[in-house]
Amino acid sequence: MKLATLCIHAGQPPDPATGATIVPIYQTSTYTQEAIGRHKGYEYSRTGNPTRSALENALAAVENGSHGLAFASGSAATAAVLHLLRPGERVVAADDLYGGTIRLFETVFRPMGVLFDYVDAADSGKLRGALERPARLVWLETPTNPLLRVVDLRAAANAARDAGALLAVDNTFATPALQRPLDLGADVVVHSTTKYIAGHSDLIGGAVIVRDDELAARLRFLQNAEGAVPGPFDAWLALRGLKTLPLRMRAHTENALRVAKVLSEHPAVQAVFYPGLPSHPQYEVARSQMAGGGGMVTARLRGGRDAVDRFLGALRVFQLAESLGGVESLVCHPATMSHASVPEAARLSRGIDDGLVRLSVGIEDPDDLVEDMVRALDGAAARPSCPGCLP
Ligand SMILES: *Cc1c(COP(=O)(O)O)cnc(C)c1O
Repeated sequence: MKLATLCIHAGQPPDPATGATIVPIYQTSTYTQEAIGRHKGYEYSRTGNPTRSALENALAAVENGSHGLAFASGSAATAAVLHLLRPGERVVAADDLYGGTIRLFETVFRPMGVLFDYVDAADSGKLRGALERPARLVWLETPTNPLLRVVDLRAAANAARDAGALLAVDNTFATPALQRPLDLGADVVVHSTTKYIAGHSDLIGGAVIVRDDELAARLRFLQNAEGAVPGPFDAWLALRGLKTLPLRMRAHTENALRVAKVLSEHPAVQAVFYPGLPSHPQYEVARSQMAGGGGMVTARLRGGRDAVDRFLGALRVFQLAESLGGVESLVCHPATMSHASVPEAARLSRGIDDGLVRLSVGIEDPDDLVEDMVRALDGAAARPSCPGCLP
C-alpha cells in the first residue's frame, strides 16, 4: 500500500472488542487476567498498551520498518538508542544537530564513558574519514537543524556499513512523507513525533523504528525497563495526526518554497537555507533522496540581533516559539532558543550566529504568509530612527 493509505489504516484495524472504527484510547494501567499467565497480550501499560501498539505499528509501516517503539519524547527515543552503547564505544555524529541531542550526548552520555566525535556529515569524505577509527554508531539528522544541510544517506549508510557501525537517522524534519532512511540503508530511524508526525503542537512524543529483530528486542527491553513511554491519550493524538501527514507535508513544502523564494529575493536577507532551492549546496542530493524540500526554512538576516528583533516585532502570522512541525507558522531564534544549550564557541563555529532565524512554515494560506514575511523583512531592513538625523 502507498503512504497515504498506510497513514490512515496501518496498525489501525477496527477495535476487536467493539468494532470501533477509530482506535480507542485505552486509558488503563493494567489488564485483568483470566488465570495466571492467561491474558490477551497485555499485562501492564508500561510494557504494552493497545493504543500505543497501534501507533507503533503504524509508524513502523510508514517508515517501511518492521518494528516501531513509541516514547514519551524524541529525547527519550534518542536516549534509548544511545543506551545500546557501552562505555568506551564511539559515536560519530553530524555537527549540526538538534541542541537537545548535543546536550544529551555531551552532558549525559559522555560522562558515562561514551565517546563522541562530530563531523560535517554533508561532506561524505569527512564522514568516511571519521569512520577510519572504530565506531559503534553514526548519528545523523538530514536536513540538519537549523542550517538545513543535507546528508547523502546512501553514502552515509555505505560508510557506516563498511565501518561495522549502526546508522541512526533522526527523520523528524523530513518525515516519511519526504524521505525514508531505512530504504536508503539506515538501521535506525528516530522521530520527535512532537513535530510533523503529530503535527498540531499539542503533545510531546518520540519514536524509534528499525527492521532488525534483535535490535528491536533490545530496544523493546530498554523501553520497558526505563519506562519513558507515552500515555494512551498522547499516543492517540499522534495517531490522529499521522493520518493527515502526507497532505500536511505537501502543503508545508509548497508554502515553504514560496517563503524561501521571497526571502532569497529580499535585500534584508544575507543567506537562505532551504533544500528545495536550486541554489542549495546539496540540492541534487536532496532531490535524489527527498520528495520535496520540507517545511523548514532558515535565513540569516543582515544586521544581526537588532535586525532580528525588528523582524520578529513586525511579524503577525508567524509566532515566536520553540518547536516546529505544527500546522501554524512559527519562528525561532536558534542562538538564544533551540541551541541556547550549545556552548557559544561551538555554536558560532557551526554557523549559528545572532542573525539566524529558523522558520517552521505552517499550512495557512500562502498569500498571508508571504505578506507577513515581506512586511517583517521590510521592518528588519529599516534603520532604527536616529535622533537628530534629517528625514
Ligand atoms: C524536537 C526535536 C528533538 C527532541 O524531541 P522532543 O520531543 O522535544 O524530546 C529531536 N530531534 C529533532 C530534530 C527535533 O526537532
